[in-house]
Amino acid sequence: VAKSRGRNNVQLFAPSMLEATQERSRMAAELRSGLETGQLSLYYQPVVALATGRIIGLEALVRWRHPERGMVLPDTFIPLAEETGLIVDIGRWALAEALPQLKAWNAVVPGMRDVKLHVNLSAAELLRKDLLDDVAGTLTRCGIAPEQLVFEITETVLMTRETEEAQVLAKLGGLGVGLQIDDFGTGYSSISYLRSLPADTVKVDQSLIKGIDADEGQRDFVAAVLQLIRSAGLQAIVEGIETGGEAGRLRELGCVYGQGFHFSRPVPADAVVSLFNADFPPA
Ligand code: C2E
Ligand code: MG
Ligand code: MG
Ligand code: MG
Repeated sequence: VAKSRGRNNVQLFAPSMLEATQERSRMAAELRSGLETGQLSLYYQPVVALATGRIIGLEALVRWRHPERGMVLPDTFIPLAEETGLIVDIGRWALAEALPQLKAWNAVVPGMRDVKLHVNLSAAELLRKDLLDDVAGTLTRCGIAPEQLVFEITETVLMTRETEEAQVLAKLGGLGVGLQIDDFGTGYSSISYLRSLPADTVKVDQSLIKGIDADEGQRDFVAAVLQLIRSAGLQAIVEGIETGGEAGRLRELGCVYGQGFHFSRPVPADAVVSLFNADFPPA
């Protein structure tokens, strides 16, 4: 477009860039006030054992109910929150929201203490000074074993070595909470790091399994990825399973755990207990 209008018209783009910047800072301000006025909430999506259909985990996923925009999904505002540092407050809020919620579920759902709560953690949150005290303190206050909490962290963060972030991760692990690599296969992963991770589980990104049902080549590829993860001594959870066909294929490939719309979309907290009333069909 710029070319067809000629070089002299390049300044035409200036106003829209300015608008984009203004739009972003307006959204950042709205997000901050949204956080303060209770517009954020957590939805929960089950992680399922494919062979039995049993729920083995719940991933907390933030939602923003904006007064005019309606429901805003995290892909729109988490990157903005990360750029502006607001993610630190969102993360603090998410822990304060999810752990008491888990405590309540522990009291009413049979076997709940074997179900792990997954919380996403952004890189910037690892540098929050009170993160370790906050995690340890909230777990103690809620009477939750550290082993019931899992942090999902993207691979780029886990790859950093000998940094402050790495030390925090080691200390989080030392508390007894689980660490999992999120979105495996989308970052700049070098497979050599897989064997030296401070994590025990890898969440395979949904983009890797698209087409697995129809495409034999894709199936072979996913089989190899799963084998790679196993050979590094790690567990795999495959994300983004949308059909029974995909679930069945993955199970054939030896995948033990999965997550996706096929089992359940993320649901509000008050819909979680009913998820436990019946197991999902085995893949
Ligand atoms: P993620 O941690 O990889 O979460 C999985 C995303 O995939 C979620 O999107 C979930 O709704 C979606 N998903 C699950 N199953 C399926 C499926 O079968 N098909 C498709 N197409 N999508 C599926 P969501 O909730 O929009 O979250 C997007 C990302 O935002 C998350 O990706 C995570 O990186 C980030 N995020 C969400 N909540 C938080 C939070 O509390 N803190 C931080 N730091 N990041 C968060
Ligand atoms: Mg995640
Ligand atoms: Mg993911
Ligand atoms: Mg993701």
